[in-house]
Amino acid sequence: MFKALLVEKGEDGKTSASVQEIDESRLPEGEVTVAVDYSTVNYKDGLTIGPGGGLVRNYPHVPGIDFAGTVEESSDDRYAPGDKVVLTGWRVGEAHWGGYAQKARVKADWLVPLPDGLSTRQAMAVGTAGFTAMLAVMALEDHGLKPGQGPVLVTGASGGVGSVATAILAKCGHEVAAVTGRPDNADYLTALGASQIVPRDDLAETVKRPLESENWAGCVDAVGGAMLARVLGQMKYGASVAAVGLAGGAGLPASVVPFLLRGVNLLGIDSVMQPYDNRLRAWKRITTDLPMERLEEMVQPATLDDLPRLGADILAGKVKGRVLVDVN
Ligand code: NDP
Repeated sequence: MFKALLVEKGEDGKTSASVQEIDESRLPEGEVTVAVDYSTVNYKDGLTIGPGGGLVRNYPHVPGIDFAGTVEESSDDRYAPGDKVVLTGWRVGEAHWGGYAQKARVKADWLVPLPDGLSTRQAMAVGTAGFTAMLAVMALEDHGLKPGQGPVLVTGASGGVGSVATAILAKCGHEVAAVTGRPDNADYLTALGASQIVPRDDLAETVKRPLESENWAGCVDAVGGAMLARVLGQMKYGASVAAVGLAGGAGLPASVVPFLLRGVNLLGIDSVMQPYDNRLRAWKRITTDLPMERLEEMVQPATLDDLPRLGADILAGKVKGRVLVDVN
C-alpha cells in the first residue's frame, strides 16, 4: 500500500480530491517503478486537482505533473534500483497517474537521470516551472542573447517560472527587469537577482502603438495575452521573447510590425514533449547556473494534505515561488 492524492468523479460529474491508501496492484503499466520523494504544484496541477480542465482522461486519477525519486524496480536496461530520477511532462499527471503519490510507474523514456550534484529535493524545488525557465533561457541564448546587451524582462516574475528565470538570468550576468502585479514581492524578486521591478499595470494596456521604445534585450514571458503583445513592441532590434505561459490569457492581440521592422523573434517553449537530449542539457545547466541558495529562498514546503488548497491558490495566481511537496 502507498499514500496518494486520489481525484474521484461522483455520479453528479463533480470531482473530489482526498489522500488515500492505495494498493500497489492499481499502479498503471510501465517499465519503471519509482519511490517518489518530492513533487510540486504547477498551474496544470491546479486544474487536475480540481475539475480537470479537460486534461484528465480517466478517473480515479492521481495528479502531479512532475516528481523526483528513486528507482525501485525496472525492466529497462537504462535504469536500475537505487538510481535517482526526475520526471517532467509527457502528460504524466494528466493522461497518466502522476507524482502526488509515494509510488509512480512510468515509461523509461519519460525519465531523466538526476545529474550529479542535484538532490531529489532540489530537482523538485526546480520542478517543471524551473526546468521550463531554463529551456526559455537556453532558447534566448541560442538566438543570440548575451550579457551586456541590456535588461532582460521576466513577466509573472513572482511565480514558479518567473522566479527561477530571474535567478538563472541574474546568475548568468544579465540585468533582470521583473514584472509583477504584487508590489509586496519586490524584496523577494530583488533577492533573486532582479535589478528593476516593473509594475504589471505598466504593461497591462493593449497595444496602441505597434512600436514603442526599444527597452528589452530578451524576455521570458509566463503571462501571454495583452502583456506579451505589448512587450513585443518594446523589444530591442533582433531580440527574442520566449513564450512560456498564459497566466494572463491565451489570446495574442498583437501587431506583426515588431517582427517586420525590428526583426523580433517569438520563440515557443514547450516542456512536455521536449526531446531527451535537450532535457539532459537543461538539467545539467540547472546544476551550474541556478544558485541553490536562491532556489531555497523560493521554496514553500507542503504535504499531500495541503494540495487541494494549493491547487486553488495557484489557479488564483496566489502562489509565490515554488511549492515543494514532500509526498512522504
Ligand atoms: P504561477 O502561477 O506560479 O505564476 C504565474 C505568475 O503570473 C503569477 O505568480 C503572477 O505573477 C503572474 N500572473 C498571474 N495572473 C496574471 C494575470 N492575469 N496577468 C498578469 N500576470 C499574472 O505559474 P508558473 O510560473 O508555474 O507557470 C506560469 C505559466 O507558464 C502558466 O501559464 C503555466 O501553465 C505555464 N507553463 C508552461 C510550460 C510549458 O511547457 N510551456 C511549463 C510550465 C508552466 P506576479 O504576481 O509576480 O505578477
